[in-house]
Amino acid sequence: MSPTKEDYLKVLFELGAWKIQVPNKEIAERLGISPPTVTEMMNSLVKAGWVTYIPYKGSMLTDEGAKYAKKLIRKHRLWEVFLVKNLNFEKDEVHDEAELLEHSTSDLLADRLEAYLDYPSHCPHGGAIPLDLMEKQEKVSIRLSDVELNQPVNIARMLNEEKLVHYFQRANLNVGDQIKIYEVDKTLDLLFIHNISRDENVELSQTIAQYLFVVIEEQ
Ligand SMILES: [Zn+2]
Repeated sequence: MSPTKEDYLKVLFELGAWKIQVPNKEIAERLGISPPTVTEMMNSLVKAGWVTYIPYKGSMLTDEGAKYAKKLIRKHRLWEVFLVKNLNFEKDEVHDEAELLEHSTSDLLADRLEAYLDYPSHCPHGGAIPLDLMEKQEKVSIRLSDVELNQPVNIARMLNEEKLVHYFQRANLNVGDQIKIYEVDKTLDLLFIHNISRDENVELSQTIAQYLFVVIEEQ
């Protein structure tokens, strides 16, 4: 399996395609490629049994596809921890490096790396590392763009993409912060957010808010 196919599987999983259909357009945007290229790749992923596709709705991972994606994501996140903790990388600059490393990481190497790092629970972007924890996190987290007005939520993870991570950092939105949306302006495509943890207000476009994954506070 070429790295390109693996990247598709990972992006699909991170966008929630183990439980929902993700439109090809969104996958194209996240991978920075054209929609026809995505369609072509999806066809071959469907043939190989990793993905199911419904026209006009999008793609979804099969159980096999999700399992494969999770294994890759674990490796990716372990390398991210290593790069930040041991090699002083910033969390908005580890994506490309981890991307290269994960594809040549055997299961044995991943296990040894995990032990060496003393079994980290999360990557620098809040993504859970152990497979059971990863599943749990995916089940409870939703996109900030889907949260109701004035509902307090905690930031669980951000989509690991340099531009987005950098943007969230500038907006001072951090993993673990408690936030709520206090106003929505649909015409401007804006969410007005109060960062409760930091007592600050920040505006985020709905589009960007899709890539901040949050969990609803337990009352
Ligand atoms: Zn990460």
